[in-house]
Formats: sequence, C-alpha cells, structure tokens
Amino acid sequence: MKEIAEGVERFRREAFPARAELFERLAGTHRPSALFISCSDARVVPELITQREPGELFVVRTAGNLVPPYSAAADGVAASIEYAVSVLGVADVIVCGHSGCGAMTALASGGGLGHLPAVAHWLHHADAAKARTDAGEHRSDERVDALVRDNVLGQLANLRTHPSVARALALHRVTLHGWVYDIRSGAVQALDAAAGRFVALTA
Ligand code: ZN
Repeated sequence: MKEIAEGVERFRREAFPARAELFERLAGTHRPSALFISCSDARVVPELITQREPGELFVVRTAGNLVPPYSAAADGVAASIEYAVSVLGVADVIVCGHSGCGAMTALASGGGLGHLPAVAHWLHHADAAKARTDAGEHRSDERVDALVRDNVLGQLANLRTHPSVARALALHRVTLHGWVYDIRSGAVQALDAAAGRFVALTA
C-alpha cells in the first residue's frame, strides 16, 4: 500500500503538472471516443496498450471481460454501456480479451470453482463461448487461446442485446470491435468479422 500512496504523491508532484492543461480541460469536459471493455486482470492496462491520454477511453473492466446480456434487471455493466453509448456517444466499442486469462483458464478446465460461487455464477455469461470452443477441434494447449477468442465473439453478441447498442448500430453511430491482447509480445489481434477470424491489428 505504501508504494501506491507514494505513487499518488509522485503523480501530484510530477505527472499532474506535466499535463496541467489537459486536466484543466478535462475538469469540465467528458468526451471519450471509445468504450473499452477489458478483463480486470492487472496485466491488461487499456490506456497503456492503446497509448491514450486521460479522458480518451471510457473503460469497463470485468472478470473475463464478460458483458451480461441485457435483462430487465439491468446491472452496473449495463448502466456503464448505456451511458457510454447513449449519453457520451462513443463511436467505437472494443471488447478486449487477453492471453493467459484466469477466467477463461478456469472455464476451459471446467472445474475447481466450488469455493468461488460468485466467479462460477459470473462465468455462465461465457457459456455460449465455451460451447463453441467445445465444438471445435483444438489441441489441449490451444484450448484456452481458442476460448479467449470465442469469448470475445460471445461478448460482442451479448453487447448487441443492449438497447442502447442496438439503437446506435441501427443508426450507424457505433462500430463494435473484438480484440485479443497478448501479454508476452504486446501484440493485439483484431476480429476480421468478414473472414470470421482474428488477424494482426493494423492502424
Ligand atoms: Zn482475464
């Protein structure tokens, strides 16, 4: 904890003054260009990966970058999506999975969650992704990677069930993107929707 408090001090002393103009502008303006949905995993840092400044990404992070499908009992994730799309008017929504995801590893191995009832319950939002992976032919050492990719597809499908997203898609005001970030290499693969596969992200 000491390191974290020291980090805040260093931020106030060094990083904040260096961006004083930016923070002054941001104090009265919130216009992010994208909603970035990633895993809560500490190794996945959206602003670092995309080299964005404060104010540029509206970020939702959940275990396994899962997006529950819309329901009448809408939750905090649904509220954040609705606000980003309908109020802030983000032009892009990115669902970003990652290599070595603990949630996907647990799901792929299919057990050991008896003492983690909240995690087990939450991971049901990836049931369709797991079914897709189970139906494919994957070497055992490729199963988690396949599930990470199938899960991005599954969460993009869940995202489309949210009325705010459905409306923005119908009006061509938003574009959905599926990414997978590789922790070891720093590379990002993006879903090529037409080809139905992930390819190296190009600017
Ligand atoms: Zn993860």
